[in-house]
Amino acid sequence: MLKVLLIAGALWLGMRLVGGLTTVVLRCTNPLRKRCRSGKTLCLTFDDGMDPRYTPKLLDLLAEQEIHASFFLLASTAAQHPELLRRIQKEGHTIGLHSLNHQNQILQLPHSLWMDFRKSMQILTDLEAKPAYYRPPWGHATLLGLWLCRRYRLKQVLWTVIVGDWAKDASVDGLCRKLRSQVHGTAVICLHDGRGTGEAPLKTIGALERMIPYWKEEGYVFETISEFLEEHTD
Ligand SMILES: [Zn+2]
Repeated sequence: MLKVLLIAGALWLGMRLVGGLTTVVLRCTNPLRKRCRSGKTLCLTFDDGMDPRYTPKLLDLLAEQEIHASFFLLASTAAQHPELLRRIQKEGHTIGLHSLNHQNQILQLPHSLWMDFRKSMQILTDLEAKPAYYRPPWGHATLLGLWLCRRYRLKQVLWTVIVGDWAKDASVDGLCRKLRSQVHGTAVICLHDGRGTGEAPLKTIGALERMIPYWKEEGYVFETISEFLEEHTD
């Protein structure tokens, strides 16, 4: 019995170590960094939605500002709110997958991760919203996750700017300060329209209400991740 437990423990630890290493490699080789060296293009990307409390407000703001963004959504929320998914697509935004319900790949057993992709893709395909992009929760990846992305023809997309807008103590002023200091030239910005504590997405929307007009005045243009990757292919 002890031997079985030791083998199981060693396997568990080994899987997590390999997952950790895969994540480090994925982050270090993030191809977006090279693409974001010059220019004035911004990709606004939103994770962890859709949430009927926040996503419609965000869509209103994007429509008012006449810009398109990218939504890395949780497939479980698409099943709950298909009308929101339809609205995102109708309004010209790009859809990406951010897992079924935000489980960390490194902590998932292989079968669970396999089913995560399978169920997610089934839900989205049934809703005629087959995504071409994938962002792993927390940016944590495993070898199986990378393989599943290939299997489902999903391109991994991380970010070049992230400002912690999900945090309880985030504020509109603080987010604007961080965005101003971190965005210099072309950037893929990771923000959130779901989850978060203390109604965090409302602060994200509040910050964007100030930052989008500011960026426009500074000469920035906005693209979806699909437009951006098509234009900047090596
Ligand atoms: Zn997330």
